[in-house]
Amino acid sequence: MATMSLKNVNKIYINGVQAVFDFSIDIKHGEFIVLVGPSGCGKSTTLRMIAGLEEISSGELIIDDEVVNNRAPKERDIAMVFQNYALYAHMSVYHNMAFSLTLRKENSDHIHERVMWAANILGLIPYLNRKPKELSGGQRQRVALGRAIVRDPKVFLLDEPLSNLDAKLRGVMRKELKELHHRLGSTMIYVTHDQIEALTLADRVVVMKDGYIQQIAKPVDLYQRPNNLFVANFIGTPPMNVFGAKLSEAGDLLIDDVLIDIKQHPSYQNLKGKGYFGKQLTVGIRPENFTISMKCDKSESNGFVTTVQLYELLGSEALVHVKISNKNVILKINARQVFHPGDEVVVEVDTKHIYFFDLETGLSIYE
Ligand code: ADP
Repeated sequence: MATMSLKNVNKIYINGVQAVFDFSIDIKHGEFIVLVGPSGCGKSTTLRMIAGLEEISSGELIIDDEVVNNRAPKERDIAMVFQNYALYAHMSVYHNMAFSLTLRKENSDHIHERVMWAANILGLIPYLNRKPKELSGGQRQRVALGRAIVRDPKVFLLDEPLSNLDAKLRGVMRKELKELHHRLGSTMIYVTHDQIEALTLADRVVVMKDGYIQQIAKPVDLYQRPNNLFVANFIGTPPMNVFGAKLSEAGDLLIDDVLIDIKQHPSYQNLKGKGYFGKQLTVGIRPENFTISMKCDKSESNGFVTTVQLYELLGSEALVHVKISNKNVILKINARQVFHPGDEVVVEVDTKHIYFFDLETGLSIYE
């Protein structure tokens, strides 16, 4: 069993750079936690502090009720899998996986049993005698995972482990990792800059920016109820479309000169109560929350009249690029609807799914 808590953890490097601010989370045993955010936001620093590879400047790291700030990495019973795999080139797959157990002078029967167990789970039995250079990227990645799982650690830390793989293999490995997590039932903390990876793998996602946690939430909640504009923009592809807008004194939303009735919106009463009527604010609309029709098919509408710039077929869905309020806007629609560049169209908004953000703070305004 391994629970882990970080309490108000800060990291200031010796050059004075503060990479992590006031990081707090309680992680349950067996949870799959993903830290996600743009490059430089402090993900790896956080992971390295958990591993014991980087000192914690202040705050506490607690594993199974014990403060472990001052424990050496090897005393923390944590296994880390790196982006570059860090395999030993001169050793076979078998010996790469056996290495840490050999170092710990474990009984050779036990070592053999563990390596064969891991190799079996990871589909590496046919490759046990090969050297890393004789393996594909995905196979090398599995050996790196194998080296970690033979030790049966309390916690796994994974730092962008799939980033060296091509898109297809990443998809396969994502599924394998998820299955592996299910089988092992162990606590995993995974770092990535890729929001799709975060959404597909995590039980809970920690979104970071500039060293600060922006939100900790289940993937579905992160997508449906982002805390602020940053999370709203970062999670989802294509990203949420963002507009400057005004709420009239009467409570109608104005984007450009298009008036949108938001009386049915769940946040309507709160917008009124919090004094947003008559004010500027920021609104967000996800690409899938628009409808689009040919202008000639619409006798009357209160949508945006615009021109299709690009139509990209993705398969069952398509992306339509248009300009609204002088911004490039991307809509995601069913690919049964086909448009061509130059088509005059009317774009309407699914009003219940508009997101509202405070203009100054960027914080979401919910019901
Ligand atoms: P991420 O993993 O999200 O890309 P990092 O944790 O690697 O971000 O880095 C966070 C910040 O800390 C960055 O501004 C980075 O330049 C800085 N940083 C990372 N390592 C060091 C170091 N050893 N010394 C000083 N600054 C560092």
